[in-house]
Amino acid sequence: MSEIQLLPKVRQYLQRDHGHFIDGQYRSGSGDKRIPVVNPANGEVIAQVNGATASEVEEACLSSRRAFSGEWAQTSPYQRGLILNRLADLIEANGEELAQLETQCSGKHIQLSRMFEVGQSAMFLRYYAGWATKISGETMTPSFPSMAGEQYTAMTRREPVGVVAGIVPWNFSVMISIWKLGAALATGCTLILKPSEFTPITLLRLAELAIEAGLPAGVLNVVNGTGEVGAQLIEHPKVAKVSFTGSVPTGLKVGQSAMAANLTRVTLELGGKNAAALLPDADIDAAVAGLIQTGYVHQGQVCASPERIYVHRSQLDETLAKFAAAVKGMSIGSPLDESVQFGPLANKPQFDKVSQFLAAARHDNQVICGGNPLAGSGFYVEPTVLLANGPQDRFLYEETFGPILCVVPYDEVDELPALINDSPFGLTASIWTNDLSRALRLIPQIEAGTVYVNMHTFLDPSVPFGGIKASGMGREFGSAFIDDYTELKSVLIRY
Ligand code: NDP
Repeated sequence: MSEIQLLPKVRQYLQRDHGHFIDGQYRSGSGDKRIPVVNPANGEVIAQVNGATASEVEEACLSSRRAFSGEWAQTSPYQRGLILNRLADLIEANGEELAQLETQCSGKHIQLSRMFEVGQSAMFLRYYAGWATKISGETMTPSFPSMAGEQYTAMTRREPVGVVAGIVPWNFSVMISIWKLGAALATGCTLILKPSEFTPITLLRLAELAIEAGLPAGVLNVVNGTGEVGAQLIEHPKVAKVSFTGSVPTGLKVGQSAMAANLTRVTLELGGKNAAALLPDADIDAAVAGLIQTGYVHQGQVCASPERIYVHRSQLDETLAKFAAAVKGMSIGSPLDESVQFGPLANKPQFDKVSQFLAAARHDNQVICGGNPLAGSGFYVEPTVLLANGPQDRFLYEETFGPILCVVPYDEVDELPALINDSPFGLTASIWTNDLSRALRLIPQIEAGTVYVNMHTFLDPSVPFGGIKASGMGREFGSAFIDDYTELKSVLIRY
C-alpha cells in the first residue's frame, strides 16, 4: 500500500494565508479568529483560515447585491450558460488539485474526491448550464368583460430571487456548493457561499476558477468562519434566499432565523435515517454488495445513505453472515492510498460522535462486525454492522452519519411501510426485489423524498432530490430548483 504524491501546487496552496473571496479578490482576512484545518487522516494541522468579521460579511453581501443588479443582470442567459460550462471545464482541468485538497481536508478517499467533487461537480454544472436558456413563464387570456372592445392578455415571468446565501456542510463541500451555484447562476441569482469550518479552502480555489471562467466579480463570494458567520448572512437584509444543507438542529435554527429576518426564502436539505428493505425474493448477494457500497461510501457520511436494513426473518442469518464476510475483507487506511477501501471520518467531533455510538452499540447490541474506533492519530473507525436490539433501538431513530448499518428482522412485507415510516426523517429509502409489482405497490406508501429500487444513494441532476418530514423542505435538481430560485411575477395588459 502506498500513498499518491501531493502535487507541488497543492502543497503551495495549503500554505497560503486563507480567508475569503469577495468581489473577485482572494483575501487573507482582517479578523483575529484563526481556524485550523486538520487532516483527519493523521490529525495534523495543514492550513489555517481566517474567520470573517461582521464588516467582511457586510462587504460580501453588498458586493453580491451590486453584481445582481449590475453586470450579472446584463449577462444574457446564453452567456450565463457559457460561463457555467467553462467553469465545468476548468474544474476538470484542475481536477487533481481540487481532489487532493478536498481529500486533505475531509478524509474523503482520493478516488471519491475525483469522482464526486470533480467529476460529478462538472456534470451537475453542465446540466444547470443547459437550463439557463430554458427558464420561462406562461401566457394566459383573462376573462375580464370587454365594454368598449378592449382586450386583455397576461403572462408570468420567472425572475431571479436575488442574493442567495449557500450554507454548506463538510461531507461534499465542492459538489454540494456546485448544486447551489448551478441553480443560483442559471436563474440569474448571485451566490455567497459559507463553507463548513472543517472544509473551508477548496471553495476559495473554486471561486478563483469561476473568475477565470468569466464570472463577473461579486457573482460568487465565499466567506469563511464558524456558524455565526452563517447566522449573520441569514439575517442580512440583502440576502433574499438561504439554501442550507446540514443537520436537522442547525436547519431548524436556520429556518427560524430566515423567517424572522425578513420572511427570507429558505431551502433546507437536512439529515436522514434512511431505510433499505430486502423483500423475501431479493438477491441477497446483490443487496448486501449494494448496501455496503452505498452505506459505507465516504465512511457513511452521506445524507442519502442507508442506515436501517430490514431483512425477512427467514433470511436473517444468511444476510448477516454475508454482511460479515463482505465487511471483513475491507481495507482501512489512508485516503491518499488508491488501493484502500475505507478511510477516516472527516473531523474530530464526528469521530467522537461516532465513537460514542459504537460504545453504546458494544454495550446494547449484538455487533455483527466492526464496532470499534481505531487507535492512532487519525480519525478511523471500523465499518460496522449491528443487529437491532428491539423496535425502540436508538439505531433505528438517530442519524449516526457514520458507517453503522443496523439490521432489523421483519415478518410480513405488509409491515414494511409502517416500519420504514416510523421515523422523524424522510429523505431516502430503498426496496430490494425482483418483484416489480410488489415494489410499485410499496412505493406510494413510503414517506421519503426519494425511493430507490435495487439501488440506494445515487443522485442524478435530472432527478429532483430533497426530503420530507424532518429531512427538509424544497428540492434541488431536475426542473424543481426553478421554483426555489425564482419569484413568479404576473403581468396583466389591457390593449
Ligand atoms: P451542520 O448543520 O453542523 O453545519 C452545516 C453548515 O451550517 C456549516 O457550514 C456550519 O458551519 C453552518 N452553521 C452552523 N450553525 C449555524 C447557524 N446557527 N446558522 C447558520 N449556519 C450555521 O452540519 P454538518 O456540517 O455537521 O453536516 C452534517 C449534517 O448534514 C448531517 O446531519 C447530514 O445528514 C446533513 N447533510 C444533509 C444533506 C442533504 O442533502 N439532505 C447532504 C449532506 C449533509 P460550521 O461547520 O462552520 O459550524
